[in-house]
This record gives sequence, C-alpha cells and structure tokens, in this order.
Amino acid sequence: MSMKCLMNCFFCLPTNSSMALSATCSSFLWGIPFTLNNNNNKKCFYSHSHSRSYISNSTSSAPRVGFLGIGIMGSPMAQNLLKAGVDLTVWNRTKSKCEPLISLGAKYMSSPEEVAASCDLTFAMLADPHSAIDVACGNHGAANGMAPGKGYVDVSTVDVDTSKLISQHIKATGALFLEAPVSGSKKPAEDGQLIFLTAGDRNLYETASPLLDIMGKSKFYLGDVGNGAAMKLVVNMIMGSMMASFSEGLLLSQKVGLDPKVLVEVVSQGAISAPMYSIKGPSMIQSVYPTAFPLKHQQKDMRLALGLAESVSQATPIAAAANELYKVAKSHGLSDEDFSAVIEALKSKFQHS
Ligand code: NAP
Repeated sequence: MSMKCLMNCFFCLPTNSSMALSATCSSFLWGIPFTLNNNNNKKCFYSHSHSRSYISNSTSSAPRVGFLGIGIMGSPMAQNLLKAGVDLTVWNRTKSKCEPLISLGAKYMSSPEEVAASCDLTFAMLADPHSAIDVACGNHGAANGMAPGKGYVDVSTVDVDTSKLISQHIKATGALFLEAPVSGSKKPAEDGQLIFLTAGDRNLYETASPLLDIMGKSKFYLGDVGNGAAMKLVVNMIMGSMMASFSEGLLLSQKVGLDPKVLVEVVSQGAISAPMYSIKGPSMIQSVYPTAFPLKHQQKDMRLALGLAESVSQATPIAAAANELYKVAKSHGLSDEDFSAVIEALKSKFQHS
C-alpha cells in the first residue's frame, strides 16, 4: 500500500459568511487525526466525517497547503510535506529551485498571492525581515490572497516588530496568523526533526500541528505574536556566541601545540558538550565550511538579537563581540559559507588585513 496518507476535508467551515467568520475562532480546520505512518515514521493527517470545504466549496477535498521560499530550509521542509501526501503548491523567487519539488508532485504558482489564494494554509520560509515582509505584504504578496478561513504560518527567523507587522496584514484579511520559527538546521529539516517556536492564533496552532509534526520533532506554543520570534533570536544569539568561542578555542589549542581534534573529543565528553561542536569541529579544523546555516543569516540573527536586547536595556557584551566577528567574516566574502566559517575572522590573515 502506498505510504502516502489520505487527507479529507481540512477546513470544514460553513459557506455562510457571518458564520464563517465566527467559525474561524471555534472550528477552524477542525479534524480528526489518524495514524498512518509515512517513510519518516511521522503521523499524518486528518479524516473528516463531514467534509465541506469553506475555501473550495467542494464536497470533499484535501487541505491545500502552500509553501513560499524554497531555500536550504524550505526545500526539505516542503519535500517532507510532499512525502507525507500533502497537496502542496510552491513558490520561490528563483523558480528553478522549485523544479525538484514539482517533479515530486508539487504544484507551482507564479506569485505568493496566487499560492495564498489557492491554498487553505500557507507556510513562508524567507531569508530575513525584508524578504518576509515583501513576500507577505508586498505587491502580489500573500496577504492579497488571504481571506477568512485561511491561515498563514511564517517560519522565517525575523524580529518581533516584523512578525507583528506581518500578523497585522494577514489578520486584516480575516485570516489567521502563526509565527513558527524553527530551531534546527539543514539536516534536522531533512529528517523532519525541527523544533517549532510558535506564537499567535491558538486555533491555527492546533490545526497546523499535524503539518508541523511532519516537519518537526517538537513544538512550543508561546502565546502572543512576537514571543516565538524573540525565543528564536535568544537561541541563535547563544549559538552564535558559542560558535565564536569554540573558534577561539580551536585556534588557541593549535597555537599552543595541541591537536584540535583531541580538543573536539574532550569537549564532546564533558559538561559543555553540544552536538554542534562534534558536527562542525572536524570540518572547521580543515578550513572547510559546507553550508547548512549561512553565515549571513547568523549575523542577521545576532544583529536582531542585539536589537531585542537594546529594546529592553539588557547588557549582551559577549553577543556584541561575537557579532563583530561575523561582520568581519562577511566583509571577507564568507556570507554564503556555513556560519562556522566565523573562525576565519580570527585567523591572522584577516586580523591584520
Ligand atoms: P536560504 O537558503 O538563503 O533561503 C532563503 C529564501 O528566501 C530563498 O527561498 C530565497 O529565494 C528567499 N528570498 C531571499 N530574499 C528574498 C526576497 N527579497 N524576496 C523573495 N524571496 C527572497 O536560507 P535558509 O537557510 O533556508 O533560511 C531561511 C530562514 O530560516 C532564515 O530566516 C534563516 O535565518 C532561518 N533558519 C535557517 C536555518 C539553517 O540552518 N539554514 C535554521 C533555522 C532557521 P531565492 O532562492 O530566490 O534566493
């Protein structure tokens, strides 16, 4: 039997408009989970005893899911949805990145607006605040295609104000909004092991949960819009400082005649062990930085985290110092390398240039 899961009606809201608006609070995307497993051993989807789609006005239809932003993270996340049998429509600024997904069965639309208009729920995984706002609120942006009964889930890493702005635009259409930035990088995205840090409309959280569970291993609901964005920035601020400190340690160990490979081993067995050190350490020692998390995005997150700290007058001197290193690395053309390339900024060739 195919491991693709069957999906019946996802959005069973009445077609009467006033009822539909109130139903967005009470029965938005109401479904009954069932537990066929796909190849990732993930639970998938819903069956419905009474299936009438508010969106499509059809008598029985699968939920139509959109995905905007097919980059390092968006691509494997969308692929996992497809593998689970989700009816998926994709869009990316650079269309060619959609081709592998199209060949796996995804539909393609030529603007975020068209994706949002044709889907019940739309995910967005964009680079930064500028692109997240543009794709959601710009010309032919997703907000133009939103309406009551639909949902927009922004999984990009952005700052609190950006997330609130996007939320306002989406909610002005009568649709629901959830921010859900992810913890975890390229490999966890491929393995469906991301951690979602969500905030916003609780009803959308509940109804999007089966989709989040396909792409991730856990999820946190943190309340009002902004809390997910803030949590993500704090996590990445810690990570950025850890990586900068680890880089200093690797170079210092080499300078005093120690084997940095042994340092990685020692660190991995002690209380400061973190998977990041064991995963990235060996390639950093060889000055190789295969991109899982682009350095430019780590520096963006340090910048946004420092802005968050500034907004509440919290001292963050270690993060501020680490941010300077990421800026140096960027200025030497390392933006698209993995963020572990920050070690290059500490090497003498850059220190004296
Ligand atoms: P990426 O590979 O650089 O992908 C960025 C995406 O944003 C691409 O689809 C890109 O489209 C699109 N984009 C950029 N500027 C745009 C614009 N002006 N208008 C429309 N689309 C635009 O980055 P990623 O690693 O997937 O990261 C995406 C988000 O997830 C970022 O916020 C990042 O901080 C966060 N994140 C990343 C990781 C990770 O390990 N990689 C982990 C957790 C969170 P094009 O293809 O046309 O350039």
